[in-house]
Amino acid sequence: QADSTEEIGFKGHGMLAPFTAGWQSTDVHPLVIDRSEGAYVYDINGKKYIDALAGLWCTALGGSEPRLVKAATEQLNKLPFYHSFWNRTTKPSLDLANDVLNMFTAREMGKVFFANSGSEANDSQVKLVWYYNNAMGRPDKKKFIARSKSYHGSTLISASLSGLPALHQKFDLPAPFVLHTDCPHYWRFHLPDETEEEFSTRLANNLENLILKEGPETIAAFIAEPVMGAGGVILPPKTYFEKIQAVLKKYDVLLIADEVITAFGRLGTMFGCDMYNIQPDLVSIAKALSSAYMPIAAILVSPEIADVVHSQSSKLGSFAHGFTYSGHPVACAVAIEALKIYKERNITEHVNTIAPRFQEGIKAFSGSPIVGEIRGLGLILGTEFVDNKSPNDPFPAEWGVGSIFGAECEKRGMLIRVAGDNIMLSPPLIMTPDEVEEIVSKYGGALKATEERIEE
Ligand code: PLP
Repeated sequence: QADSTEEIGFKGHGMLAPFTAGWQSTDVHPLVIDRSEGAYVYDINGKKYIDALAGLWCTALGGSEPRLVKAATEQLNKLPFYHSFWNRTTKPSLDLANDVLNMFTAREMGKVFFANSGSEANDSQVKLVWYYNNAMGRPDKKKFIARSKSYHGSTLISASLSGLPALHQKFDLPAPFVLHTDCPHYWRFHLPDETEEEFSTRLANNLENLILKEGPETIAAFIAEPVMGAGGVILPPKTYFEKIQAVLKKYDVLLIADEVITAFGRLGTMFGCDMYNIQPDLVSIAKALSSAYMPIAAILVSPEIADVVHSQSSKLGSFAHGFTYSGHPVACAVAIEALKIYKERNITEHVNTIAPRFQEGIKAFSGSPIVGEIRGLGLILGTEFVDNKSPNDPFPAEWGVGSIFGAECEKRGMLIRVAGDNIMLSPPLIMTPDEVEEIVSKYGGALKATEERIEE
């Protein structure tokens, strides 16, 4: 197992992983995961791994929460399915919508729409914004601005919004109504002597100039992850969201917060919007909404937009959009229980208790000659490997430094996310202090081994 894993790491399996998801080809010798227990997963050979990515940034409550299993089983026995179309719905769907609205306190939200994945949620956002702008008599306000290095999903529209070139190349994307503005990565993109605040001002100015160039009457919305996840765990620089929101307000551009990774405690606040004082018009959530035990996502809609869509729907025709499994009762029942657990166990307090050691423990490796930057907050962390400690000196891609590190982690019984020479950690929120130590120690061992393999 160890040998084949190493080889896979070298061949860049980690880099390909997001794009091969679902294909399940056996020629890449996949690591087959068999069962889970708390913060650990086990492969079919019985090898144990600490799941330092919580699946795909999602199993917030770990892999064996009996209350979620019970909630699913009870709902399956009572009503395994009914839809939420026309004027029909189910109690779990109604109750979860209320719970989500009550839990999101960065500003008041009016309505919830359920989808099955983060990608569907973000696609739904686009259609909802278009519908809203049509209802408001401004059908030309159609364009979306997203950011370079963002990740918003894999469907045609959510991949268009994403700012990762690999998602666009060979797919004729992004769609023409999607524009991209600066990635807010201070370490990589700041000018000499530019402070974080000045960097934020420059990015906000660039955004304003883009809006003016395109014509504010054509720009519908701006979408942003509070902390960029798959792009490499990129934190907003100081004053960034304050300045960006001022520009959006000035030109009547809606703000969509993509909280698919950050919602429900990951940063140490219940939502990323709480951490950065973001007052969005629309929010996308998924992943930890059900701790990933069932596929479910949601969009939260401001009362203003919800009212307009509701009151105009007779004139425009209904908002003709929905999925068979929107508000699936079993997924909703599981999510209701997950949200209950977050509250009962005071998940944000727990995160804030263990996060300092997690952050400090890993950041203590910042001095490594192959590490450019280690960045993170709460229970999310990214490491970027570069030569000479400089963002301008990447290692040759064929060295596969990130993949070597990923393989070294795997060898030591730890699963992480590798994307080129960026690696990411986003462990279950329920981790114990001992498990934090285990991650720090395995990270240190893998880093040392990676340094040695590069020197060879
Ligand atoms: N938005 C963000 C911020 C994400 O991280 C992801 C997935 O990782 C998505 C959207 C897409 O979610 P899904 O994979 O459920 O479609």
